[in-house]
Amino acid sequence: MSAAVSLLAAPSLAQPTRDAFDAGRRALEADPTLTRHPRSVLVRFSPITTHASRAQLRSLVRAQMHRAYPSVPEVENLTLDMDVDRAIQILRALPGIEYAEPDYVIRPQTIPNDASFGSVWGLHNTGQRIAGRSGIPDADIDAPEAWDFFTGDPEFRIAIIDGGAALAHPDLRDNIWVNPGEIPGNGIDDDHNGYVDDVNGWDFVDDDNTPSDLSGHGTHVAGIVGARGNNGIGVTGVNWRCSLVPLRLTGAGGGFVSDAIAALDYCRMMDIRVSNNSWGGIGFSQALYDAIEAAQASNHIFVAAAGNDSRSIDTIPYYPASFGLDNVICVAATNNRDALASFSNFGAGTVHLAAPGEDVLSTRPMGYGYLSGTSMSAPIVTGVVAMTCASHPKWGYRRVIDRVLASVRPVESLSDLTITGGIVNLADAVGHPPARPRNIQVAHVGDGRVLITWLDKSDNENRFGVRRQQRVDGKWRNAIFLRTPADAEEVVDSPGAGTFRYRVRAANFEGESNWTINRRIDLE
Ligand code: CA
Ligand code: CA
Ligand code: CA
Repeated sequence: MSAAVSLLAAPSLAQPTRDAFDAGRRALEADPTLTRHPRSVLVRFSPITTHASRAQLRSLVRAQMHRAYPSVPEVENLTLDMDVDRAIQILRALPGIEYAEPDYVIRPQTIPNDASFGSVWGLHNTGQRIAGRSGIPDADIDAPEAWDFFTGDPEFRIAIIDGGAALAHPDLRDNIWVNPGEIPGNGIDDDHNGYVDDVNGWDFVDDDNTPSDLSGHGTHVAGIVGARGNNGIGVTGVNWRCSLVPLRLTGAGGGFVSDAIAALDYCRMMDIRVSNNSWGGIGFSQALYDAIEAAQASNHIFVAAAGNDSRSIDTIPYYPASFGLDNVICVAATNNRDALASFSNFGAGTVHLAAPGEDVLSTRPMGYGYLSGTSMSAPIVTGVVAMTCASHPKWGYRRVIDRVLASVRPVESLSDLTITGGIVNLADAVGHPPARPRNIQVAHVGDGRVLITWLDKSDNENRFGVRRQQRVDGKWRNAIFLRTPADAEEVVDSPGAGTFRYRVRAANFEGESNWTINRRIDLE
């Protein structure tokens, strides 16, 4: 060991790390089968290592620090001038290194499909024919039912960690985030987050401030999450209004885990609580695992595509979907007949739920188009998670996830394929107060008892509240409240002698309906 160390302890090369890293990007573009960056690794140092000892450890493999990560400060991305496997072998044997691993390739999860069909069936399925097959009415996520009450928060930030987005697309531009702390184009990092002029997000591939989209994948994903609703053009995202933050991770051929960790760092700095991740690979990265786990501290929810290999990821994992972390939601894809899409991965132990992912209409860099894949189902869930967060701003990540998972629409054929056995449901995840009861009546039924009756017009209340007031000196006073269980349509009260009035409302965890009118009764 010590002999090997001294042999390798040559001074590190002066080659800029950017050049070394970009060489890997070119290799990825040239070789679609590449599984790891040829000159980049991820290492985790022991917490006690000093700057000096880190520098010494790097020099042993002739490595330079390409990137550090504030949210996982022990992890570094190193570029190398030696064989990655050999470097990892050496690093793993060194004291002061907790782990060393390849910088794995990750790829988008789309099935190419340029056909043009009916409409956005996943949000609202009327049975329209898609790809020559009629859908099942209501095999969708109940979006219009939710939009009656809530259409999204324009300030709520959603990271689209993907291939960028068409920032000027007429259906996206009004929902693209604008960094309030950054003065555009002055060449200064005004908000001191380490990124100069990051007005709309960041491009980690080209390391610049224009995360525009060359492949069309990221634009499609962004439109599913948040194409502007009710603007009279094109399509509607799950969120009609939101702040989409494109963080460009993939270029031609894919991207690297080391950039994904940097994107998560960006989410933490900019208080982005939800990210869509329509990408993955088969390499288990402990560093990515650590970074996603660290994001729990900022209540970040990481929505991941289950992958498109038509297999169970319980047995052959697909990352990051298979990490099993508490703040990851893993999404399979269904078609317009509520069946698992033929390409979709599944897993009763690892895939949480499904969402529409076959022949999904969304934004393209030039207009609109259809794509299929778990890349398309994940952003539907991301949109639902964002709507649930935005409508419950005080909920932590776990409560939001529990709500989204508890509100799925069960589908028999999915019960052995996913954890919840259901399809994400926007209306039930976001929730809304119940409808107002109607036709309140009050009647004296003897012995000083008053029967109050009404019609239950709601299917989501968990109680009714009845208010009684008494007429005293010309004013209504002495309010008391009676409660009944859900679905009740009457209650009996014994108020004593006097003049009273009653009104009723329904309530649930989201709030209360309006009150009915008051009904008056005189008791001797
Ligand atoms: Ca900045
Ligand atoms: Ca600036
Ligand atoms: Ca009811």
